[in-house]
Amino acid sequence: MKEFSIPRLSIAVLLLFALATNATAGKRVVLPDAVTPEHYRIEFTPDSEALTFKGSVEIDVTVRRATNSIVLNAADLVIDSASLAGEAKAPVVSYDKNIETATFTFDHPLTTGAHTLKLAYHGTIYQSASGLFALDYQGPKGRLRSLFTQFENSDARRFVPCWDEPGIKATFDLSATLPAGLMPLSNMPVASTEKIPGGLTRVHFARSPKMSSYLLFFGAGDFERAHRMVDGVDVGIVVKRGDTANAAFALDAAAALLPYYNEYFGMPYPLPKLDLIAGPGSSQFFGAMENWGAIFYFEQFLLIDARLSTQSDRQGVYNVIAHEMAHQWFGDLVTMAWWDDLWLNEGFASWMANKATDHFNPEWKVWLQSLSSKQAVMQRDARDGTHPIITTIDDVAQATSAFDDITYTKGEAVIRALEFHVGEAAFRAGVRRYMRDHQYGNTVTDELWAEIGKESPVPIMQIAHDLTRQAGVPMVNMLSSRCDGGKTTLSVNQTHYAIDAGSTAARVWHLPVKVATLGSAPTATIVSGAAPAQVVTAGCGPVILNAGQGGYLRSKYTHEGLAAIAARYADLSPDDQLGVLNDTVSLGNAGELPMSDYLDLTKSIPATADPVVLSTLVGQLRQLDQLYRGLPSQTAFRVYARRVLKPLFTRVGWDARTGESDNTAILRASLIAALGEFGERDVIAEARTRFERYLAKPASFSASTRRSLLGRVAVQADQPEWDKLRQMAKAAPSELERKELYELLGSAESDDLTRQALALVISGEPPPTVAPSIIRSVSARHPEAALDFAIAHWEKLSKMLEASSGLRFVPGLTGNSTNLKTIDKLNAFAAAHVPENARQDYVLAIARIRYSAKVRAMRLPEVDRWLAAQAH
Ligand SMILES: [Zn+2]
Repeated sequence: MKEFSIPRLSIAVLLLFALATNATAGKRVVLPDAVTPEHYRIEFTPDSEALTFKGSVEIDVTVRRATNSIVLNAADLVIDSASLAGEAKAPVVSYDKNIETATFTFDHPLTTGAHTLKLAYHGTIYQSASGLFALDYQGPKGRLRSLFTQFENSDARRFVPCWDEPGIKATFDLSATLPAGLMPLSNMPVASTEKIPGGLTRVHFARSPKMSSYLLFFGAGDFERAHRMVDGVDVGIVVKRGDTANAAFALDAAAALLPYYNEYFGMPYPLPKLDLIAGPGSSQFFGAMENWGAIFYFEQFLLIDARLSTQSDRQGVYNVIAHEMAHQWFGDLVTMAWWDDLWLNEGFASWMANKATDHFNPEWKVWLQSLSSKQAVMQRDARDGTHPIITTIDDVAQATSAFDDITYTKGEAVIRALEFHVGEAAFRAGVRRYMRDHQYGNTVTDELWAEIGKESPVPIMQIAHDLTRQAGVPMVNMLSSRCDGGKTTLSVNQTHYAIDAGSTAARVWHLPVKVATLGSAPTATIVSGAAPAQVVTAGCGPVILNAGQGGYLRSKYTHEGLAAIAARYADLSPDDQLGVLNDTVSLGNAGELPMSDYLDLTKSIPATADPVVLSTLVGQLRQLDQLYRGLPSQTAFRVYARRVLKPLFTRVGWDARTGESDNTAILRASLIAALGEFGERDVIAEARTRFERYLAKPASFSASTRRSLLGRVAVQADQPEWDKLRQMAKAAPSELERKELYELLGSAESDDLTRQALALVISGEPPPTVAPSIIRSVSARHPEAALDFAIAHWEKLSKMLEASSGLRFVPGLTGNSTNLKTIDKLNAFAAAHVPENARQDYVLAIARIRYSAKVRAMRLPEVDRWLAAQAH
């Protein structure tokens, strides 16, 4: 489902990214299989003022073997009446609240074959995104309320009593009784409407294809729809009235992507329409959901506002559109049998989104950008508390926690590695087979490998199993290299890259690796285990392991090998430049290489390097700077960091140049942020001057200049500037802009302004949907202050957080902490508030703090010595 908001170039944001839970194998909670559904006829009437609804459903079921009872899922629903067609006596209804089921017990066994179960019931309309929920917003004439549903992973049962498991597919007829004038939305188009007394309309949607319950969708509100026919499909962007101008970018993207996917999957999109729906407002943790034919997005993930949206926003929106549309096949047409294989949906959709985005926007270099998110997930996968991609999921709570970066980002990287190994054409042929053979059905991961295996020129099953069934990051080590007769002979082996004492167990992978000398064609090989293996590759000169960076692995070079690369660094491809940079900083932090190897490399990066490479360098220097927080030697580090970055900023300048790439604009923003952070006086002064100009004439600033300018001013703000930003937040014309500005108030360096920002959270001034993100913003520079505040005000704060994500909030504040005392606070908070089986986020956060503290204590002195040596 749910694509999360990760600006692709922002490593700092990834540090705050929600963490995941490792399932401990217990007893799987599933429905009995004696009775299964074929078709649902659902009618419901919402009372959106009272936040309740009434429903009725007729379910055509098949009784597979004689049984006295029918068990299905229901949560927070009251069943008012129940009957089975042909049975004189009504069944007895009972509920199990723990496992969210309702049981209908008959006084005799039911005959096998077809039956129809009829239920009348009522339930709740929620105010955060689960089940049927309301989103309120300010319309031109006052507050307006719109209705939507969000069912993944297991909340269809809050809307209709049903078999709410991904492996149980059925068809759906949905009818809704609504006030006239609202636009009704579901998976399928409206088939008919009838006027009924009281100014109401009853809307009947066309029958859905056979699908999982979590994909069912309903929405209604005062909407507009921009649309276009594409390959016989009516593609629409649905927005709240007045927002149609912001939908153009999304409509163009969707119209281009649909034929691309029809071709890639070898199977045309099977529904008559596809809506991309912008819900007004935002969620604290989720962005979009791939309901079949009716994709829901919180508006910032779909709409582009010319005044506010930056180049980075456009890239992000495109990618989320591509992600959710890929799910229309991978997830909706073919669905995982159970949540164990959730990664198959999410890893594949994330990979496919990059592939499609890259196809239409090659200048964005999304694969190059994706190396940064791979780098972040590898760091997490190397620490205590990680888990295999395929993980045992027993129940709903565990399924919820499976939506993490291992599932999405490692999943994406593993698919990428396998495509790299198999080849693009064979991989696609395998995916087409898989779609054709499993359409409208359910699968487990091995069925995908089997289909790709039929097309692949090389075996893949063992490789795929090693990468998906065991946790952790493989490392390929260069042991020696020798050039002879125009060929290079390498000795390599494979170990386990792990950075916590508890996660260093020896692990073996069968790992496809491409090896190349600079400028020569790569040699593909399989590296496995600690015994040295010989690889011969064409050419002499610097050797690149993981050439092209398609593999999921760390590369470790000999000191001589790395020095040879550094000497020719400018001649490497941008992928390999970035791969070497990421590997070297990680191995330096882990103590596997001297920090001087990494720091020497920072001197070898030319100002003409790709903007994505340079943005990554900026991010790495900022991470090191974070570790220096409070140390006197930070001053010397900042002097060096400014010396590295200033020539880059001189090249890109303050103002956009005609014809420059989007990635240059993104680099500019990151340089302004970093140089300001590192105390570059000219940048800080110029930002102040420009802020004055902005206040006088905001329309003269482009969206991206505006964002980085306000961001810079907020960090170094004095009281009058901060007050000005607060005024702007209060007066903001949209929720999105209000949220952006309130978050900026939390980014001030000053301790005094930080206290004022935190006080705002519980002041009632920012709306509760916005207030918690001020704390998150504070946590980037003041993690301890943010954590103390959240703990002290937990009672108030927890009411503002969404139920499903609330427990992740507190450990998420400690991403930039290096303070070991913070660990005790997290433990104490978890003991008081978090059930024992839901503390995995806390385990991960603690492992991260411990590691950051270790890097600060052990590696920064190395950096200090290197810096001192540079001065001579
Ligand atoms: Zn998804």
